[in-house]
Amino acid sequence: KENPNQALFEIHTQASRVYHMILTSTELGQEAKKYLYDRGIDDEIINRFGIGLAPDEPNVLYKSLANKFEEKVLSESGLFTFTENNIYDSFQNRIMFPLMNEYGQVIAFSGRIWQENQINRKEAKYKNSTTTPIFNKSYELYNLNIAKPLINKSKEVYLMEGFMDVIAAYRVGITNVVATMGTSLTENHVSKLSRLAKSFVLLYDGDKAGQNATYKSLNLLRGKQVQIVTVPDRLDPDEYEKQYPGALKNLMTQGRISEVEFLIDYLKPDNLTSLQEQTNFLDQMIPLIANVASLTAQDAYIKKLSETVKDFDYQSIENQVNRLRPNN
Ligand code: ATP
Ligand code: MN
Ligand code: MN
Ligand code: MN
Repeated sequence: KENPNQALFEIHTQASRVYHMILTSTELGQEAKKYLYDRGIDDEIINRFGIGLAPDEPNVLYKSLANKFEEKVLSESGLFTFTENNIYDSFQNRIMFPLMNEYGQVIAFSGRIWQENQINRKEAKYKNSTTTPIFNKSYELYNLNIAKPLINKSKEVYLMEGFMDVIAAYRVGITNVVATMGTSLTENHVSKLSRLAKSFVLLYDGDKAGQNATYKSLNLLRGKQVQIVTVPDRLDPDEYEKQYPGALKNLMTQGRISEVEFLIDYLKPDNLTSLQEQTNFLDQMIPLIANVASLTAQDAYIKKLSETVKDFDYQSIENQVNRLRPNN
């Protein structure tokens, strides 16, 4: 029996071919490729990730697909915008990233602006497909189709924010990487990944938003093996590799910290001078440290804390940790 969504998968596949063709063999495509080359995205990557271009015209995609699909499919796909008198392509003049489900079927797109005038007009940087019967952003992870066997083999997955970050990791040879595409991590994402991975590495943007997202994700990942990489200088992983060529791979493999180390940095108030501020901070941290299984790790965290909080020394913090340690 035919899958009722079959035609929706098919229209997305065909659209991705059209977009890819426009990028690789038109004049506007040549210009857009320059933008991609500037960002370190070469032809191999363009093909690997199926990157394309939506032309700067009102309905090129519609004209090429309208007679191949039923009206219902055309409208359900979200690829077209129906007004009273006209039908427009929903994506115009954007570099197109096809989004695939874990089985590699194209289910949606995200389009990025790339020309100076679009930036000046303050158009949204990325525009995503709307929710459809085959696409729900809170279920999907960018690159899971490619990363799946590698996550399964290494039992480890890196979680990133954006397309360009995933591609940057791919360029430095790390491929067990997925992105949540800017939305927060969901229970769905976690259970999907838990079937493949035992350990999670959070590698969000180094800015405040990325750090807040890390903190939120830690709650969802409670009880799992988690490490965190904080990108220096408030950069995102892609920007970091651009700024310090060759440094990303090392950061991803050697620059990991534990949840408690992250929380010491994240929860530490800017101002830790008053006794009140110091005790508040310690009261948050000490239960977390008492729950760490490894005594060696506890020792390191207590040292780090005692260096951060000047009015409490190692011994006094350790005493408090010992009082909270679960009986065993
Ligand atoms: P780039 O490197 O291309 O400038 P980015 O990935 O660094 O993009 P961020 O602002 O860090 O951009 O956003 C992270 C991710 O969030 C993006 O890759 C994209 O998936 C998603 N995103 C960003 N802006 C939007 C938007 N306006 N609408 C929908 N999704 C967005
Ligand atoms: Mn960001
Ligand atoms: Mn970013
Ligand atoms: Mn970026």
